[in-house]
Amino acid sequence: MSSSSAIAPPAKVTVIGLGNMGRPMAACMTRAGYQVTGFDLSNAARAKFTQEGGYAAATVDEAIAGAAAIVTLLPDGKIVRAAIEGIKTKLAKGTVVIDMSSSAPLGTRALGEELIAAGLEFIDAPVSGGVKRAIDGTLAIMAGGAHATIDRADQILLAMGKSVFRTGPLGSGHAAKALNNYVSAAGLAAAAEALAIGSKFGIEPDTLVDVLNASTGRNNSTENKLKQFMISETYASGFALALMAKDIQTADELAHQIGVTAPLADEITAMWNAALQQLGPTSDHTEIGRYLTAKK
Ligand code: NAD
Repeated sequence: MSSSSAIAPPAKVTVIGLGNMGRPMAACMTRAGYQVTGFDLSNAARAKFTQEGGYAAATVDEAIAGAAAIVTLLPDGKIVRAAIEGIKTKLAKGTVVIDMSSSAPLGTRALGEELIAAGLEFIDAPVSGGVKRAIDGTLAIMAGGAHATIDRADQILLAMGKSVFRTGPLGSGHAAKALNNYVSAAGLAAAAEALAIGSKFGIEPDTLVDVLNASTGRNNSTENKLKQFMISETYASGFALALMAKDIQTADELAHQIGVTAPLADEITAMWNAALQQLGPTSDHTEIGRYLTAKK
């Protein structure tokens, strides 16, 4: 395949990271006709992927052999760097590496430049929409990097998402993603605080959510998280509180790194980090409601 051609089915795509997002996103690519091989360090994640009908390689070397593209869905950019550094000399020139994790933008820019200098292609293409939209293949995707590389990866991305926003140079997808999650986390925390205040005053939580959803306080969390995961106390959104805290911290650090004053981001970052400290690394991000209610 010429390094400038689009990567179309049935090309081989390797997915590294078979967690809550990686598994359904890999399944979308399989449905689109790609030959998908998964890899995860966790035996349990590989077994779950296999049970769901996917193919998980036993070693990363087997997973990447002959791949036209490598998609990473890992917890953060440092883990992505470690995973890619372990395989980069084994990838054919022109292989497209697509980091779909929510990584820190400046680290992404540095990693991408190194990979491109080594003859690989690289874009950041993080996603928004959660597990439900990962299953449906309707994620929002924000892609940073060279247009020619995004063109090559376009069919792969559209197998998982309904829209691909070209956000600018390397790292800009990750910046847009972190900023999105900062706004989302601030909206969720505000809604959860409103529920805690309202219920202490005697307003039924379900009633207050109905009011918000019919009024100007409506946001994604009031529509899709408050009743579903917080009032029901199931806390099963599939998005860890640790990952949300990381994303907000990434947005806040970016502000500081580039000299933008962002006092609300500072405050929201501190709030989510305190919640993480109290609730622990296995908690779901919707448990921020439990944390705020306990404080009332
Ligand atoms: P997850 O914790 O469910 O999955 C991550 C997987 O990576 C785990 O199975 C883990 O074993 C594996 N892993 C860790 N280090 C590895 C390595 N070196 N090599 C191979 N596998 C390794 O996380 P997730 O919810 O799937 O999220 C993945 C990424 O997508 C994160 O960056 C997250 O912030 C982002 N994201 C998540 C959601 C969501 O709703 N869950 C939504 C949008 C974006």
